Amino acid sequence: MTSENEICPICGEGHLEELVDKTPVEYKDNKTVLDTFYSVCDACGCEQANAAQTRHNKRLMIAFKKEVDGNLTGTEFKDIRKRLGITQNEAAAIFGGGSVAFSKYENDDVIPSESMDNLLYVADKLPAILTILAKRKGIKLQSKPRLSIVAANSPQYKDELINSSDSKRQKIEILSNLSLINQSILRYGR
Ligand SMILES: [Zn+2]
Repeated sequence: MTSENEICPICGEGHLEELVDKTPVEYKDNKTVLDTFYSVCDACGCEQANAAQTRHNKRLMIAFKKEVDGNLTGTEFKDIRKRLGITQNEAAAIFGGGSVAFSKYENDDVIPSESMDNLLYVADKLPAILTILAKRKGIKLQSKPRLSIVAANSPQYKDELINSSDSKRQKIEILSNLSLINQSILRYGR
C-alpha cells in the first residue's frame, strides 16, 4: 500500500517502511483483532498511515461492525447483486442509494441503511422484487433476472420453465414467488 522508497512526507528525508499491526478493536461488547496497515519513517521514526492504508483500515472496521450487527457484508452485497444479474449502476437505479452507493457498500466503505440491507436480503430470496421495482422505475433490465430457487425447484413449474419463452418465464417466476408469499402469510399470519 506504499510504493517502494516512498519518502516520508513529514521529514522529507527518510523512507517509509510499511508494517502490519494487530489492532484490538471493540464494538458493542464484541472484540476482535484487525490487521491494520501503517508506515514508519527510517529517519524521523514517525508512524503514519497514507490514504490507501487508512481506507483499508476503515474498511476492516466497517466489515466488523456489519458482522456484529448481523447485516450483509460487502462481499454478500456483491454476491447478491451478481446473482440478480445487475450492474452497480442498475442496482442503484432500482434500489436507490445514489450512483456510487453499491461500490461503497460492496467495498465496505459505508454501512448501508437498515432498510437497504433488508431490501437486498429480501430481493435475494424473492428475485421477482427486482422485476417489479425495475418496472416501477421504468428500467429495462439488460439481463434476464434469475429464477428463484423455489421456482426452479418446484416440480409444478419445472417442466413449464424449461419449455417457456423469456416473458413467460418471468410471469411464472412472479407467480411462484407470490405463491411463496401467500404460503408464508398462511403459515405466519399477516
Ligand atoms: Zn520522516
